[in-house]
Amino acid sequence: MSFTPHGKHLIAGVWVASDSSFSNAPTQGPAQWFSAGSIELVNRACEAAEAAFWSFGYSSREARAAFLNTIADEIEARAPSITTVGSLETGLPEGRLQGERGRTVGQLRLFASHILAGDYLDRRHDVALPDRQPLPRPDIRLIQRPIGPVAVFGASNFPLAFSTAGGDVASALAAGCPVVVKGHEAHPGTSEIVAEAIHAAIQKCGVHPGVFSLVHGGSRAVGQRLVQHPLIKAVGFTGSLGAGRALFDLCAKRFEPIPFFGELGSVNPMFLMPHAVAARGLEIAKGWAGSLTMGAGQFCTNPGVAVLTEGASANAFIDAAVSALEPVGAQVMLTEGIANAYRDGRDRVANAVGVREVLSTTCELRQAMPYLFATTGREWLANASLGHEVFGPLGLVVTVKDNDELLEVARSLEGQLTCTVHMDAEDSAEVSRLLPILERKAGRILANGFPTGVEVSEAMVHGGPYPASTNFGATSVGTMAIRRFLRPVSYQNIPEALLPEDLRQK
Ligand code: NAP
Repeated sequence: MSFTPHGKHLIAGVWVASDSSFSNAPTQGPAQWFSAGSIELVNRACEAAEAAFWSFGYSSREARAAFLNTIADEIEARAPSITTVGSLETGLPEGRLQGERGRTVGQLRLFASHILAGDYLDRRHDVALPDRQPLPRPDIRLIQRPIGPVAVFGASNFPLAFSTAGGDVASALAAGCPVVVKGHEAHPGTSEIVAEAIHAAIQKCGVHPGVFSLVHGGSRAVGQRLVQHPLIKAVGFTGSLGAGRALFDLCAKRFEPIPFFGELGSVNPMFLMPHAVAARGLEIAKGWAGSLTMGAGQFCTNPGVAVLTEGASANAFIDAAVSALEPVGAQVMLTEGIANAYRDGRDRVANAVGVREVLSTTCELRQAMPYLFATTGREWLANASLGHEVFGPLGLVVTVKDNDELLEVARSLEGQLTCTVHMDAEDSAEVSRLLPILERKAGRILANGFPTGVEVSEAMVHGGPYPASTNFGATSVGTMAIRRFLRPVSYQNIPEALLPEDLRQK
């Protein structure tokens, strides 16, 4: 299917161009030109979002649910072009993009049903006690209200599910917050088609056009202005620690500081307990290799580190991991920048003291091949940089002397999105010592599985202590993600008829 993007920004229902441009860098086919974002466009988008809030922020849950479902329908209606363009731009296989589209429309529909159910409003009512002594109690009711316009940065590694109509956008719109998206330069054509789908849904549902704007990148100034714009009340971001931290700091330095919900790096360690390794170490090694190389390792939940006790079982585990990784061919990475960062990360690990290369490969240009390294618990504990994310299919095995050292390695971890334990029933006593540590480190703890593949559901947490995220109380996946864009308001002695619709007694 051929699709030629017009390359414009969508600002409050109108496709507009600026006077400068940038080109994308597709993995196949000719590059295409896109209008570059500007401070003036960001200003217009934010002002339109604020104007839209006065209707959208007070709209009924039914109207917003219908809007979310219509966006999902409009994305489905454009499925073939989204897949084709997305695949050309990012190098991701078509099957992966089809799956990601399913997840994207699935989460839009999930948020629609979530707001209809209404639990997220967390309604509370302290009934007035006029005769209470020594003082009467007033009537107090609480409800969660939307916060205002939200900025979202499209992520490179999920061009659909964490981008223009991804989880951040779906949860903000569900809450009643207009959104200004800063598109990622790795997939501007894909962003354009998805923005067209949202535009069509806005027109069908009669929503204020300022409720959604897409401003392409092309200059750092775009993202910097967006997070500092006085009308923006929160930011959703998925990407690198460096960029996330820079944007977080800008949010904190504002006259009115705002929350920056950054989902950043994580090495997602796996702890392999002795009985599980003895019983099925080879099977775990095979599963790990699959999880590590899935999507060329470009997942925030990629399990980059495996920790287990030294000895014959550990050696057999390493050999099995090598055998499973060796046949994995080169995979195309999302951008040249990510491929370069992968090679730099490999060099950092390869040159670290006490690290040996177990599986050597070579990768060039935008290609990624898997690497496997091994080190000891002692070296790990002496070198904090071994715990930093390498974005790509690189694994590090850490062999420890005993379970006490394994616990020390766990204690040394930075904040993680996930921690995994592979265990059998006989490992339970040791795991009961490990879990309280992991609970302080990660947003999600798994047993006997692999963390890649984040279920979009009620009970999911995709977040964690810094640097996994910049806000440990939040998740960017699952229905609880809506809480990021709400704030509680108490209404004291406000007459029933003047309360928000959702607080009135039916
Ligand atoms: P990135 O460098 O973090 O950039 C993400 C977004 O932030 C882009 O829109 C970028 O705009 C913007 N940005 C970056 N630095 C900025 C700054 N100082 N001020 C304002 N805006 C800024 O992510 P990426 O380009 O997708 O990939 C680079 C690396 O990020 C990867 O190699 C990987 O290490 C990491 N990454 C991690 C995850 C994860 O989930 N853990 C996901 C994706 C990427 P520009 O495009 O204009 O620079």
